[in-house]
Amino acid sequence: MSLSLSLSLSLSLSLSLSLSLSQAMVVMVSSRDVRERLDVLDRNLKPRIAGLSMMVLIGGDRYWIEHRHTLWAVCFCLHDSHQVLTLMVAFYAGRFSWYNPEVVTQSWSPTMKSPDVDVIVVGGGFAGMYALYRLRGEGLSVRVLEAGSNVGGTWYWNRYPGARCDVPSLEYSFGFSRELEREWDWPEVFSAQTDILAYANHVADKFDLRRDMVFNTRVNSVVYDEADNLWHVSAENGHEYSSRYCVMATGCLSVPNKPDLPGADFFEGRVLHTGLWPKEEVDLSGQRVGIIGTGSSGVQAIPELARMSDHLTVFQRTPVYTIPANRNRMRAEVQDEFRDNYEKIRKMQKNSFGGVSGFQPVKSRRSKTPPMPDPRFAEGILQLSPEERVELVNEKTFGALLAFRDVYTDAEANEAANEAYRGGVRKLVNNPEVADKLCPTTYGLGCKRQVLDRDFYATFNRNNVTLIDLADDPIVSIRPTGVETSEGLHELDVLIYATGFDAMTGALLLAGIQGRDGRTLNDKWEDGPVAYLGLQMAGFPNLFTITGPGSPSVLCNMLVAIEQHVDWITDCIGHCRMHHVTTIEPRPESEVDWVAHVNEVAQGTMYTAPTCNSWYLGANIEGKPRIFMPYVGGFARYRHRCEEIVANDYEGFDLRRVS
Ligand SMILES: Cc1cc2nc3c(=O)[nH]c(=O)nc-3n(C[C@H](O)[C@H](O)[C@H](O)COP(=O)(O)OP(=O)(O)OC[C@H]3O[C@@H](n4cnc5c(N)ncnc54)[C@H](O)[C@@H]3O)c2cc1C
Repeated sequence: MSLSLSLSLSLSLSLSLSLSLSQAMVVMVSSRDVRERLDVLDRNLKPRIAGLSMMVLIGGDRYWIEHRHTLWAVCFCLHDSHQVLTLMVAFYAGRFSWYNPEVVTQSWSPTMKSPDVDVIVVGGGFAGMYALYRLRGEGLSVRVLEAGSNVGGTWYWNRYPGARCDVPSLEYSFGFSRELEREWDWPEVFSAQTDILAYANHVADKFDLRRDMVFNTRVNSVVYDEADNLWHVSAENGHEYSSRYCVMATGCLSVPNKPDLPGADFFEGRVLHTGLWPKEEVDLSGQRVGIIGTGSSGVQAIPELARMSDHLTVFQRTPVYTIPANRNRMRAEVQDEFRDNYEKIRKMQKNSFGGVSGFQPVKSRRSKTPPMPDPRFAEGILQLSPEERVELVNEKTFGALLAFRDVYTDAEANEAANEAYRGGVRKLVNNPEVADKLCPTTYGLGCKRQVLDRDFYATFNRNNVTLIDLADDPIVSIRPTGVETSEGLHELDVLIYATGFDAMTGALLLAGIQGRDGRTLNDKWEDGPVAYLGLQMAGFPNLFTITGPGSPSVLCNMLVAIEQHVDWITDCIGHCRMHHVTTIEPRPESEVDWVAHVNEVAQGTMYTAPTCNSWYLGANIEGKPRIFMPYVGGFARYRHRCEEIVANDYEGFDLRRVS
């Protein structure tokens, strides 16, 4: 037996006698950097590990012992460190935590392989970026794999003219760094895509995120290896990684949906999708442009496209309810007042229904007279006569209709609001036939995510814009020179799809996720997504989803939803490491109960009205199971439930330890 081996064994024996030893840590080091490693570990890890009393370092080039604060560090010079380590762990099963210099890995047994990194995060939008920031801050090694060539997710891909946020930017911003809040200036109240993307890049620079991000890497396989308790993640470009935990930050709206139209491949002009807009400028001057879809992206793009092109043909599948967006520039006084109150505002967001604080600036208000609550909103909309409703819309725009609570829950009140809306459209659009086509009649306000616009209806008064209502005049086929509808050919140079996304589940189902016993996520979700809290799925241990189905996600200010999920996941991984938990996953009955709860809460709202066919239900994708995906119960209620579950020792989850 070598000297070093006997040293380790004698230390092992003495440790076994020391019953007061609560926890020791084993670290593998290379021969040169023992002291550096100890410095880093002592600084970064020690405060996080309760009861740690000894750090054992293996692999240095000399025998060495040192006392730091309350911690003893012992270094062995070993040549066959794996063998000794195996022996030591066998002696102290459950007593040691295993730390590798590059990789901090808690859930380790002698026979298990070490992963490349602790956590792989798939997706480099706001969710992936914040996940990297938090997990790295906990001393974990992280790799973010992103299909795009840079950060930003939604705001990287959706560069179409008119793309912008429908949540005020002072609210649609990260709340985890006071410094970030202080230094970033938003030019407009509701920011354009370019400004949000600039913000994402600023966050990446400030927190040096890109050094752990791998771009141009589209993940197509995420496979669980039960024997080694590892996730093997590989990408289309051949990159392969393994990790103990995997976080899917692939986004709710990141897989553009393109309807399968006959002849689509034969179109000889340029084809674009709003969700995959090119980085370089698209010159549409002198072009005949067609756009299919009048959802959120279409509504934003149409006024801009009409201004940029020679002629615009709008192919409308379903008329939209849209309200005018706030177009104000950001005033420095308002921004300052937000900054001064951010602590309070972030708390208000967390306790709100939709992740928006509703903070009312007082000091920066232009008018010093506080606004009086309008008594017309106090009672339900049915208390007003049809004329009074139209008057209200004329005075306060369409947004006023959404201020009545009963519009969301009572079918009669909803129809009253819908009728008032249609009255408003007829006033805005000069041609009565066109106005009629633009009026939604088959579903009600509040069924879909509220769309905001700038000049949408006024655009149809331009003489270079034609509206084709596909309900009356459907597409027969795409021809090499344009779109043929039942009434004839519409010749085009450019065809734009504004046809939305395979929402919420699309990116997860494309990632090739395979859990225990080789069962795929696609198989598990054949009849619709089943997940616990939208965070995890049974059969997929240590795999987390950010803003997954069953969480408030798209019904919320998503930055608030993302931060809450990332914080929860980071704390959960921390808990597992600290308590020697090898795997965490929900119990099958917990996720079934949660899905039932999500559906129960959605019942009776306009979201699930029989007339409502929204992407929340998967209704925009042919063959997709119709199931209501986001949690309608409100962000605050959801967050409380998540916290309660943790307080009850991860109620509903199955936590396993290596024996
Ligand atoms: C046009 C538009 C406007 C929006 N406006 C608002 C708004 O006003 N307010 C609001 O709250 N939300 C809005 N959203 C929702 C928006 O998606 C979120 O606010 C937020 O940006 C989501 O961040 P994320 O990181 O979760 O997802 P994303 O930003 O979608 O990022 C996911 C990333 O994962 C990558 N990815 C996916 N699959 C893979 C894979 N297999 N391998 C590698 N990488 C992969 C994608 O390339 C993408 O970059 C909007 C969405 C769109 C499309």
